[in-house]
Amino acid sequence: MPTYDYLCHDCRKRFDIFLTYQEYGVKPVTCPHCGSSHIRRRAPRVRVLKGDEARLQAFSDPSKFAGLEDDPRTMGKLFREMGGALGEEMPPQFNEIVDRLEAGQSAEEIESALPDAGGEALPDAD
Ligand SMILES: [Zn+2]
Repeated sequence: MPTYDYLCHDCRKRFDIFLTYQEYGVKPVTCPHCGSSHIRRRAPRVRVLKGDEARLQAFSDPSKFAGLEDDPRTMGKLFREMGGALGEEMPPQFNEIVDRLEAGQSAEEIESALPDAGGEALPDAD
């Protein structure tokens, strides 16, 4: 079951929620710390990068990612390889992000085009 990573705007704490793909977007999610529904999902691309580390070892060489911010096509290719290596259903935004990267869009362009996929890198509260 996929884990969804959320951040609470009210108490600034982050939390993980297990949801099936059927539940995601349908089942109301509230902050387990303060009960607020004023929450947002954290960036999927970060979650993908932090994902199943064992199977991502082939991609764990940081030098592979060095400079990729300036090279969206290569980043898109790497993401696509990663998705294949995981062998799991990726979030709907994943393919869209990869498509846009491979089309040469910058991370900033993609984040503004896909508000749900972006997200500022807020520090963890714990
Ligand atoms: Zn909260």
